Amino acid sequence: MPQTQPSDFSLCVYCGSRMGAQPAFAAAATQVGQWIGSHGWQMVYGGGKVGLMGIAADATLAAGGTVFGVIPQNLLDKEVGHPGLTELRVVGTMHERKTLMFERADAFVALAGGIGTFEELFEIWTWYQLGVHSKPFGLLNTNGYYDPLIAMLDRMVSEGFLSPAVRALLLVGTDAAELLQRLHAAASVKI
Ligand code: AMP
Repeated sequence: MPQTQPSDFSLCVYCGSRMGAQPAFAAAATQVGQWIGSHGWQMVYGGGKVGLMGIAADATLAAGGTVFGVIPQNLLDKEVGHPGLTELRVVGTMHERKTLMFERADAFVALAGGIGTFEELFEIWTWYQLGVHSKPFGLLNTNGYYDPLIAMLDRMVSEGFLSPAVRALLLVGTDAAELLQRLHAAASVKI
């Protein structure tokens, strides 16, 4: 893993609060955390210790990165608030959580996950469409997990519900390092 100078780059990671059925999902979350940590970046995420969330946070910390977590009080037990983070902010509501995660991040990446992960990615995307921000966001498609979603997005375009320009905003990749580099480059242009 190449070492570079620490930067102020802050990447928000959306991913499952479960591990998923394939070991490849945890392996990808580990790769993402290792990349963030070894490049001196900061990971921003939902603050939990469970599932892929915990895997990515632990890998970031182990590789020397900083991790900023934001968790609502009522999820502290369910998602097991991570005690070892650089900073764990406990907030009152889901909306406060998402707002703070959004504010602290320069870019966003969704790994494999469930409806919470979908919700977070799509909200960031719709906020871009509405002109709320211009931060880049991407989707890590591990083992084809998101192939049906990508097909649905293309169908939205062909059926006239999504513009090709907005469709193209979502950076999709199968390789963690390659996708994170693209997000970093896109954020650098916009900062
Ligand atoms: P999941 O992908 O369903 O395992 O959820 C991943 C993360 O998304 C978990 O930390 C959930 O608490 C979080 N999440 C679920 N729904 C929401 C929501 N409406 N706003 C913010 N985070 C959410």
